[in-house]
Amino acid sequence: MRTLACALMFSASLAALAQQKAILLHDAALVDGTGAQVRPHVDITFRKGYIDSVRPAFTKDAPKNVEIVNCTGKTVIPGLISAHSHLGILLDNATPSPNAYTTENVTKALNQFERYGVTTIVSLGLNRDLVYQLRDQQREGNLGGATILTAGRGIGVPKGAPGLDVAPDQIYRPANAEEARKDVDEMASHHVDLIKMWLDSGHGKIPAMDPAVYTALIEEAHKHHLKVAAHVYTLADAKSLINANVDIFAHSVRDHVVDPGFAQTLIDHKIWYIPTLALDEAFYLYAEDPAIMKSEFFQQAAGPELLAKLQAPDYAEKTMAAAQTEQAKKDHEIAMKNLKTLYDAGVSIGFGTDSGAVPGRIPGFTEHRELADLVSAGLTPLQAITLATGENGRLLHEINSKLNVGLIKDGYSADIIILSADPLMDVHNTHKIDAVYHHGVLVPNPAPQN
Ligand SMILES: [Zn+2]
Repeated sequence: MRTLACALMFSASLAALAQQKAILLHDAALVDGTGAQVRPHVDITFRKGYIDSVRPAFTKDAPKNVEIVNCTGKTVIPGLISAHSHLGILLDNATPSPNAYTTENVTKALNQFERYGVTTIVSLGLNRDLVYQLRDQQREGNLGGATILTAGRGIGVPKGAPGLDVAPDQIYRPANAEEARKDVDEMASHHVDLIKMWLDSGHGKIPAMDPAVYTALIEEAHKHHLKVAAHVYTLADAKSLINANVDIFAHSVRDHVVDPGFAQTLIDHKIWYIPTLALDEAFYLYAEDPAIMKSEFFQQAAGPELLAKLQAPDYAEKTMAAAQTEQAKKDHEIAMKNLKTLYDAGVSIGFGTDSGAVPGRIPGFTEHRELADLVSAGLTPLQAITLATGENGRLLHEINSKLNVGLIKDGYSADIIILSADPLMDVHNTHKIDAVYHHGVLVPNPAPQN
């Protein structure tokens, strides 16, 4: 269905690209996103937005007609990809508002993602139809920031999930299977990149989606060759969705510990699993570990309004006493355990954070936190970075076969982060951003290193 060519899926200005000389990153340590070990002393050349060559660093004569950027002692990784984020839900990262989905506010978030090295995001539902225009403007080179893929509004439940304060045209809530099919058709007519649905009864407190509705919407999406990502919480719901041919779990299973049999089912059905480990943690992280808020890296991402909320005198005490905190901690622990089980079994694991959905899940910052959480769950820094780059690129390529992102390899979009410290020694070194290139163009004002 997606007949629009997506070759121009980038946000850099066309004029800037046309004028651009080839750029050669010289003598970098390369983590290429495939999961391969670091390669020392590498030259990476890119032009017109795409990677041209990756070869051993020149030692004698420097190539001519290229701009050489010396990267001795630096590590180069692909731009990060979030396959689960949101736009236009919060004002100033701090306040949910049905009026937040504006060009100005969305652009601000896209720029923030990009400054933090997140060069591509999937805005996984809760978008106003404005998103389609913004995506087109990006493709024409007239809108900056992280590249957007979108699930449009997404499909929720009448009086049920998602329980967020958004405008009525940010979500469909079909009453029956027939309405759900129409909603999918409408989104397909806008060339959404995928379909998002919510299946969750909020611990039995709100109505869950009727199986007839999700069965129909998944079937309809597949007619349009669109994948379906489901918000999920319980193992029972996950199993029902597998039977209905869902493609992507947008969150971890968090009510039960999963077993290798469940992992095998995901593998057999080629289902992607996006753990969003940072999601539950964001409810209590800043109360439990206020030191995390000291860095400029954090403060610039949070912004003054959110910072004031999180640093209010009673915030920590109130948060730690809240019933939600106890539940979130339990959920986080199970999510971490399940991720490790599924990763070890060989399930396809995506990378996403739910950043932008609620205050505390902060565009750009939370993606780096997710990397650290993956390491806390038992992955190596290399494995964590691979999920956020090459593996997520593989997921996006399945969604749109014209999109080649997530690897530092010939023909891929030149989305690149230069780090001044080795992220494989300590995953927190992904904060040490020296420079970000997005589709070959240097991003102004990258995130502060400390
Ligand atoms: Zn979400």
